[in-house]
Amino acid sequence: MSQSEIDTLIQLLSRLPGFGPRSARRATLHLISRRETLLTPLAAAMQAAADTVKVCEECGNLDVTEPCAICRDAEREATMLCVVEDVSDLWALERSAAFRGRYHVLGGTLSALDGIGPDELNIESLIRRVTEGRVSEVILALNATVDGQTTAHYLSDRLSEFDVQVTKLAHGVPVGGELDYLDDGTLSAALKSRRSIS
Ligand code: ZN
Repeated sequence: MSQSEIDTLIQLLSRLPGFGPRSARRATLHLISRRETLLTPLAAAMQAAADTVKVCEECGNLDVTEPCAICRDAEREATMLCVVEDVSDLWALERSAAFRGRYHVLGGTLSALDGIGPDELNIESLIRRVTEGRVSEVILALNATVDGQTTAHYLSDRLSEFDVQVTKLAHGVPVGGELDYLDDGTLSAALKSRRSIS
């Protein structure tokens, strides 16, 4: 491994969330010193993921099949649609095993600060699913952040013209809290006691 390849690795790792140049250097040394047990299998796993993981065109989930396993699962309620910001929130809800419907991943939240408007999110595909499908309830499982709540407000407005019940997660989600950080019990409780907002 030449110096430039080491530098490339450090530079790429430093772009990961939670990483800076220092942790990227440490991780690089850690990987190189465990070439057989970590670096090589990790490189293979990353290549396999790059080759096989797709974004589900229906819901925005990540899977190796298209549509994803959740969209293909006939056992899951097609009448309940749970709207989340990111795939990490979908994973959190799946870990809690509290929800047996389908999902819709927005791909972020509205944010005036970051210049993210409705067109940057998967909102038109959500409206299409609500109008074309058998959806009777849309659960807005958005983070209790300012942007998350702004987005929930916008979506409940947009959905109010359709014959669909719009609910949101109840108490238990702390203000500023992100779903991914909630324990499974809290998330289940918030989902069970969700309330109508339209
Ligand atoms: Zn899907």
